Amino acid sequence: MLTRIQMLQYPFSVEARRKSQTIARDFRRLSKFLGESENRYIVEEAGERVVKALDQQSIRLVNTNDERDVLIYPTARLIVEKIGNARLRSYQAVAESKAVQKYLSRESSDIVQYLAESSFGWKLEYQGKILDRSDLSPILQPFEFKIAFENFLEVAPKFHVDKWKLVNRHMDKGMVYVAKRELERLISGKFSDLILTGSYEVPTLPTRLTEIVQSIDAELAGKLKSTQPIEYKKESTHAFPPCISIMYKESTAGKNLAHDARFALAAFLLRIGMSEQDVMGVFKAAPDYVRSLAEYQVRHISSKSAGEGYNPPSCKKLQVNSLCPVYLGAAWDALCEYVLHPLEFYNTRAWEQSKNIDDHSWYSRKKKRKQTLK
Ligand code: SF4
Repeated sequence: MLTRIQMLQYPFSVEARRKSQTIARDFRRLSKFLGESENRYIVEEAGERVVKALDQQSIRLVNTNDERDVLIYPTARLIVEKIGNARLRSYQAVAESKAVQKYLSRESSDIVQYLAESSFGWKLEYQGKILDRSDLSPILQPFEFKIAFENFLEVAPKFHVDKWKLVNRHMDKGMVYVAKRELERLISGKFSDLILTGSYEVPTLPTRLTEIVQSIDAELAGKLKSTQPIEYKKESTHAFPPCISIMYKESTAGKNLAHDARFALAAFLLRIGMSEQDVMGVFKAAPDYVRSLAEYQVRHISSKSAGEGYNPPSCKKLQVNSLCPVYLGAAWDALCEYVLHPLEFYNTRAWEQSKNIDDHSWYSRKKKRKQTLK
């Protein structure tokens, strides 16, 4: 049903996957195939594709009229899996899903429906062209499709926008009305999810591919340096700013936190790289702990499309909400005067600890005071 170009545009499609598998059945065989000199262009293009994703640029569709073009996407995935960096994977998910959304917007309803059904097994009903829908009530006329609610829920909750909440949708016998544009968004969202959650055993890679992996890995460190928080380790709690430290201690000691504090703590912990499971564990001791609710809240905070989860509140916000103990005069740390955000505090203090620096007099020499807290 799909053309060769469409196979390249929709790497998640049954046709694209089948085609890739006829050339190289699994990653081990793909790796061997990529080691052959005549297949070098696939490796180069895949590397380019990952770099584009890392640079947050549009992915270029490579069409050389060769059936091997379909291997560029799985090779790009292989590179990202080999590097094993969650941020890079999330950049890849964003770039790939954006490209898919752009291509889908130019497709007919037939193709969009076909892709959703054949690729993900979704149940859809086409409502017909605009004229065919004139018998429907006016509020239902804008929707070309109905999708089974369980398929809708596979993706929609991740968008965190009211219009994607099931309660705000029109439904009919377990089917949710969606416009074509919305179905396209669901498809690209599902594709993004597959990238974010898929994991592969990476085989030994051929020399050129290994070189590309190493070069992207090196570039990655530089590109993410300014924004990537120091990785979370158990001892990282010693680098927590006073605000987070108090919330963390209270929560793990079984005290109920107010909603604002709970949000601030969860968003902070997720942002520094603590797993969702561990974050839920932090709230477990609270007397009002309800597992399903905590899971929902933590996932909700963390699952905005990768890399874009909710940001923990700034110092100013915490001060307004009476959650900054330094501002309230209940705690003190000199570093607080030089930061505007608890994450900034954490990154600086974790760095100091990694270098065994316990003399903090350098703040006043090197940093500009940003707040006056006493
Ligand atoms: S100044 Fe900022 S980092 Fe320090 S305790 Fe207050 S809110 Fe936290």
